[in-house]
Amino acid sequence: MSTKRQNPETIAIHGGDYRSDPTTKAVAVPIYRTTSYQFDSTEHAANLFALKEFGNIYTRIMNPTNDALEKRLAALEGGLACLTVSSGQTASAYAVLNVAKAGDNIVSSTDLYGGTVSLFTHTLSKLGIEVRYADPVDPKNFEKAIDDKTRAFYGETLPNPYLRVFPIKEVSEIGKKHNIPLIMDNTASPVICKPIEHGAAVVVYSLTKYIGGHGTVVGGALIDGGNFDWTTDPKRQPNFNEPDASYGGVVWGKAVPELTGANVSFAVRARVTLLRDLGAALAPDNAFGFIQGLETVALRMKQHCSNAEKVVDYLKGHKEISKVIYPTNHEGEIAKRAKKYLSGGNGALVGIELKGGIEAGKKFIEALKMFYHVANIGDAKSLAIHPATTTHSQLNEEELIASGVTPGYVRLAIGIEHVDDIIEDLDQALNISSKGKLKAVS
Ligand code: PLP
Repeated sequence: MSTKRQNPETIAIHGGDYRSDPTTKAVAVPIYRTTSYQFDSTEHAANLFALKEFGNIYTRIMNPTNDALEKRLAALEGGLACLTVSSGQTASAYAVLNVAKAGDNIVSSTDLYGGTVSLFTHTLSKLGIEVRYADPVDPKNFEKAIDDKTRAFYGETLPNPYLRVFPIKEVSEIGKKHNIPLIMDNTASPVICKPIEHGAAVVVYSLTKYIGGHGTVVGGALIDGGNFDWTTDPKRQPNFNEPDASYGGVVWGKAVPELTGANVSFAVRARVTLLRDLGAALAPDNAFGFIQGLETVALRMKQHCSNAEKVVDYLKGHKEISKVIYPTNHEGEIAKRAKKYLSGGNGALVGIELKGGIEAGKKFIEALKMFYHVANIGDAKSLAIHPATTTHSQLNEEELIASGVTPGYVRLAIGIEHVDDIIEDLDQALNISSKGKLKAVS
């Protein structure tokens, strides 16, 4: 089905080429809980392995349920191909491993999910891949950090705690001058931001959050924008221009466009080398869960964003709160980025700084009745966390502040319940936290 002129609400339901199951005519995408697929002939088998034909071989590398999800995600994002994997962490790791090897580096934004920082700083460094950090407030910081071993730029569209929207176009344009692709983590802003339209080459997702949407499945995706020429500067992108001994000496940047007629070298290489060798495949049952989530993601994002705006209005000026952090609450250039890159809403993450500091933060969390106290975002349910006593509890006060988390900072991930009920829960919890009715939790 053509998705050329369709809107995200429609693409999320019909995108890709799945219309009904070819054998049973089932309309919903079936769960193919299957591992291996019979070859028609030895020639067919040889063609599949040589990438002369594309088709199912083995579920670690491809699966029909995952395929329907992958095509739909690629269409929604405006990309050409997609690879689903077992978690968002795997998606970030594979995105970097697909372009860089020991001795290479990438330049990443400092505004990142903590798990990504840990992956970059601790695990990738042990593999010999250096991650250099650049403050995205000034996009030129990315250019300053590159050298001839820089293989990619990496950013997050809507990173917490600061919720400063990443300068996608500015950094991707710097990248284009040096033949460096921009990889964007768009986990917190599906539908409301399409990084590929702004010049990103690759988009990664933790599908676990808004795409799944119900706190039930863990998964990730890499979407190939098909808009980056991996062969312009062979020295800059050796993984795509040097023969790959693990695949009969294939040169990915040349072979894939020749074989497929499309610029999907990034997605194909990730699938047939990284997924083949490292094996963090998405289970088809989980792909099915994401297909269900995807059908309502556009609808949910509207409700998430509209609820969050109303919550921000309620919180602004509240006597117990010193600061409300939201993409549009920033000033100058940073606020302009929210307008430039987000459309149809400004996301559902809201940060608050409680005047009462760490004790007020603990009491507020304890007093919430409807919000869940969890280390997650993107659920239909409203969620809250007090980083100073949880995710960031190992840091001292100075380190906390450097990471953008003040002692009284609470992150809210606004759900899709009725907004009056969300505000009522926040209101009663703020009243309790200010009056000190609860004992502080240890
Ligand atoms: N990227 C972002 C922005 C996230 O918030 C998360 C998880 O919280 C991840 C990546 C990692 O995703 P997963 O938990 O699915 O591995």
